[in-house]
Amino acid sequence: MTARVLVVDDILANVRLLEAKLAAEYFDVVTALNGADALEAVSRTRPDIVLLDVMMPGLDGIEVCRRIKSSPATQHIPVIMVTALDQPEDRVRGLEAGADDFLTKPVNDVALFCRVKSLVRLKMLTDELRSRTGGDPLRLLQADLGQADRAPGNILVIDNGATLGERIRTSLGGLHDVRTVPGPREAAEAFIEGDPIELVIVNLDMDGVDALRICSQLKSMEQTRQTPILIIVDPEDRQRLLRALDLGVNDYLMRPVDRQELLARVSTQIRRYRYTERLRTSVRSSMEMAITDALTGLYNRRYLETHLSHMIDHAANRGKLISVLILDIDFFKSVNDTHGHDTGDRVLQEMAGRLRSAIRSSDLACRTGGEEFVVVLSGTDLQTAERVGERVRKVVASRPFLASAGCHLSITVSLGVASLTPADDSPDDILKRADQALYRAKREGRNRVSLSAA
Ligand code: GH3
Ligand code: MG
Ligand code: MG
Repeated sequence: MTARVLVVDDILANVRLLEAKLAAEYFDVVTALNGADALEAVSRTRPDIVLLDVMMPGLDGIEVCRRIKSSPATQHIPVIMVTALDQPEDRVRGLEAGADDFLTKPVNDVALFCRVKSLVRLKMLTDELRSRTGGDPLRLLQADLGQADRAPGNILVIDNGATLGERIRTSLGGLHDVRTVPGPREAAEAFIEGDPIELVIVNLDMDGVDALRICSQLKSMEQTRQTPILIIVDPEDRQRLLRALDLGVNDYLMRPVDRQELLARVSTQIRRYRYTERLRTSVRSSMEMAITDALTGLYNRRYLETHLSHMIDHAANRGKLISVLILDIDFFKSVNDTHGHDTGDRVLQEMAGRLRSAIRSSDLACRTGGEEFVVVLSGTDLQTAERVGERVRKVVASRPFLASAGCHLSITVSLGVASLTPADDSPDDILKRADQALYRAKREGRNRVSLSAA
């Protein structure tokens, strides 16, 4: 992982020490000896992460952090505060100023690399998600994130002993909902039922249970791998701590667990999880918008063409059958002219619903134009496709559409059917034949299914 780290401390020896450790792990290191230089270095070098000493003369670390986090150009850069061990309230002040994590002096190597790597990973993920949504969804996200941050988190503790879960619950003092389960099976159930779990805390030192295996399972299963894991370890268990971090465990706490640190790490992990979940949702919805038709929720023409051309390439190699139906609503213009455009829109929506009900879920239904729809039937020959077309025709013609209260409209569709031939090498080839068949169905009187000759 190569990333640029800005190290800020007013004591040169501290800067040199961190610089040496990070450079040895192939990080690209930039340094600054005071707050003003730090802000200048942030805007000039655009680091992937900032390690920031709290106590500095002039602009102190808290103020520098606040400025980084209040500028739209830099607020996505993760900041780790470096605090003195005997100043636990600095951690809370740091988090309030927007810091993403903190380390205590003297900085130990495991802690340093755990925190730096996990934040660099997070930044790479969010950079990637941000670039995929096109614009900058961050501002939108941040608008009400403050509020979401303060809502109680839903935490699952995995421990088969009697005390840890209760101690964590008491330490978190009613700020979060905490539930304890003794093993992986109960944990899996907890993920299925109830509200989404936002943080899992695992006791690494359980009797008769392999806690590392549990962490590895959680990090590999589809429905749990995004959920952060915080482990509780004994100081002498360094080997297993390193293994756990390799497996993707997000953070750790050493025994005896310090209450302030527990509170701070729990809220940081939950805040990050909520942030990336929102980012993921926004990526997902912008991807959906790009491939679906807003009025009916069916796929759009662009998606149809991409998908169909993949299917054709695939079928050509294996001699698979593909058929398509093209449907066009009969005399739809008169629906609009007589009842208005909104009524027309509702007819189109109900058409999409009826169409879905008449095909298999594996078939691809698209709205390709105003009142024109295409269905791709995989593994289906021409005769079977004709039967599906007939079923669609009947499901439309058999009962009126409810266009608005008290307004029932009789609607019919005409359909053209075509199957893939070995000579076809693009979606256009097969769609053109289906279109010719549709044209014949219209000419021969509408409300009918017509087959392509080829
Ligand atoms: P035919 O039986 O030959 O298909 O006749 P038609 O009236 O259905 O065909 P034509 O292509 O002349 O008219 C299609 C109409 O569909 C014209 C247009 O106003 C309407 N239309 C296209 N897109 C939409 C839409 O999104 N919503 C609504 N309400 N109407 C639309
Ligand atoms: Mg029409
Ligand atoms: Mg038309």
